[in-house]
Amino acid sequence: MNTPTQAVYMELQQAYDHLNAVLFDAKLPACLITLQREKHTYGYFSSKRFASIAGSTTDEIALNPAYFGVTPILETLQTLAHEMCHLWQAHFGTPGRGRYHNAQWASKMEGMGLMPSSTGQPGGAKTGDCMADYVIEGGLFIEACKRLVTNQFHLSWYDRFPPMPVVQAGARSAALQMPEDAGGGKSHLSDWVANTLADSAISSDGNHQNIPMANKSNRVKYSCQCGSNIWGKPDLRVLCQQCDCSFVAV
Ligand SMILES: [Zn+2]
Ligand SMILES: [Zn+2]
Repeated sequence: MNTPTQAVYMELQQAYDHLNAVLFDAKLPACLITLQREKHTYGYFSSKRFASIAGSTTDEIALNPAYFGVTPILETLQTLAHEMCHLWQAHFGTPGRGRYHNAQWASKMEGMGLMPSSTGQPGGAKTGDCMADYVIEGGLFIEACKRLVTNQFHLSWYDRFPPMPVVQAGARSAALQMPEDAGGGKSHLSDWVANTLADSAISSDGNHQNIPMANKSNRVKYSCQCGSNIWGKPDLRVLCQQCDCSFVAV
């Protein structure tokens, strides 16, 4: 039986290895994946961030576990692939200055099956300081995820105390990826993607009625005394911003 630390990092390493093989011909060197909760950040890449006492260096890819319980696993893998594209560029390309995502990065992302977009939606700018991306149906990334995300693979642990802004960001990002007739802005995603998203997506008042309420075991409804509702994974502890009270499972 793996300890929680072993389980989390083995799963993240497995995801890294899988995406590396499918999207980068297994050319990316290993890195150190960390978990941190920097505000408003799904993840980041930091070149040669760690040194070893043996004298070598390695890159850091950080992932924010606050999102794990309130976004679909696809979103976490998307963040990982985004940061891996930065790692690829640091080793095999020419990164932009500072936080700038340049045309070379954008073109690599697109080739990987992730469309760079400043808005996270079709029509956004493909380069810039603050960049999101969305899944290209039929692209390498989503096909890689279909093979990885099975009953054998999942992220076993998630943060039980996501702050309300994280919950809301999670609901927005999940809703954005929903097919149009399900309340989202993207009608080009397959049933598999929609189901994967619906399976683990959390939603808050305002858009939940548009998301298919598939009877999935890992979705739990939480209510606050003020009448607000959210949905997410079991055992979450979220404070309602309206009244400072806790949401309770109902
Ligand atoms: Zn980036
Ligand atoms: Zn409330």
